[in-house]
Amino acid sequence: MDRAKTQFFSNVSHEFRTPLTLIQGPLQDVLRPESGLSADHRRTLSIAGRNVFRLLKLVNSLLDFSRVEAGRIDALFQPTRLGELTAEIAANFRPLFEHAGLKLVVKSDVPSEQIYVNRDMWEKIVLNLLSNAFKFTHQGKVEVKMRDKKFGVQLIVRDTGIGIPRKNQARIFERFYRQENARARTYEGTGIGLALVRELIELHGGTIKVKSEEGVGTTFTVTLRKGKAHLPARQIFETAARLGDADTATYFVEDAAGWLPQAPPESPASKKGGEDTRPLILVVDDNIDMRAYLVNMLSPAYRLVSANHGRMALDLLGKGTRPALIVSDVMMPEVDGYGLVSALRNDPAYAGIPVILLSAYIGEEAAIEALNRGAVDFVEKPFSSRTLRAFIEARLRRRAADVHSEATVV
Ligand code: ADP
Repeated sequence: MDRAKTQFFSNVSHEFRTPLTLIQGPLQDVLRPESGLSADHRRTLSIAGRNVFRLLKLVNSLLDFSRVEAGRIDALFQPTRLGELTAEIAANFRPLFEHAGLKLVVKSDVPSEQIYVNRDMWEKIVLNLLSNAFKFTHQGKVEVKMRDKKFGVQLIVRDTGIGIPRKNQARIFERFYRQENARARTYEGTGIGLALVRELIELHGGTIKVKSEEGVGTTFTVTLRKGKAHLPARQIFETAARLGDADTATYFVEDAAGWLPQAPPESPASKKGGEDTRPLILVVDDNIDMRAYLVNMLSPAYRLVSANHGRMALDLLGKGTRPALIVSDVMMPEVDGYGLVSALRNDPAYAGIPVILLSAYIGEEAAIEALNRGAVDFVEKPFSSRTLRAFIEARLRRRAADVHSEATVV
């Protein structure tokens, strides 16, 4: 049963790659600087381009994971200067850390002695640990250290992030396991990152350990042995030539860049001078591309403000922003869509603001939950811009009519 599942996973992921590649390639062609696209089309197509990239990254890790689980990976191990390679991989993240105001410290005291690893796999190990450190660290620093030990070498990735409660520490390497309500930069994730990392390390005959304290930080320690006696002889490849996939790091960094908070986008159509009386809509979503897409889509007809999650939306309201309607995602860090709706409904000042929830959850339970909490509409992803605009228009018309009839009753 397990094998059949793994096989199915692997087939499906593989089948995804061809169409995705055929979306990515043509998109990259039209996005070339000399292609003569208008700025508007360039912005819209870049959103599509970045998200095809994200989907490919996800499919690639699913594929890797199912291949490892099925025992179908015959890795080649090559002698590698691991200190240098690790520093090179980590360097991809430097601009992102600087942008987020985090320090990234990279050190190595591993001598130039060569360690046998599979370069691609090592890259995935470092990238996964580093992108997790970024995801769960809001201030302070992340250290990536290579240490020389008598029995081998160690990679240490230490962050000053939110930490992991003791009771969950044993579970984080399980496949699909994710901590609930973790205060992360994004809600995005699948729970296969660390499961894959552990499998890849075990293929090297190595180990991974975690030490963590809530509110203080987390340290992952990977230990590999020196030499090659512990590796299957037929998989050793003595030349130190590089067989790297240059794209892997880009996938990780691009993905993580989307978790950074951004200044709320200005509505492009809002004009200065003369009061703009178009209704104000508050867009709440933790995905930067989704926010940009919604703002672009709605800006011809409405004024817009945006927030990264429910807590930020409530802060905006607290500071006096009075939207005519809120369009919000459901799964978000800090305060999710349901939490936002409940908070609004419990406060007489905001109880009348209609909320449309957008969700990738499919099924009636999700819709019922949303409606019970007091959302007025529930729109499933993927949705077309016409559908969403129709929902918004209908709600705003209803609201105007309600306000009008209340006024006449009084
Ligand atoms: P994902 O990141 O997709 O949720 P992972 O397998 O990479 O999946 O991680 C599993 C869980 O382990 C995460 O959901 C998170 O709760 C926890 N975790 C991983 N790395 C860290 C870290 N550096 N700090 C705090 N929690 C972490």
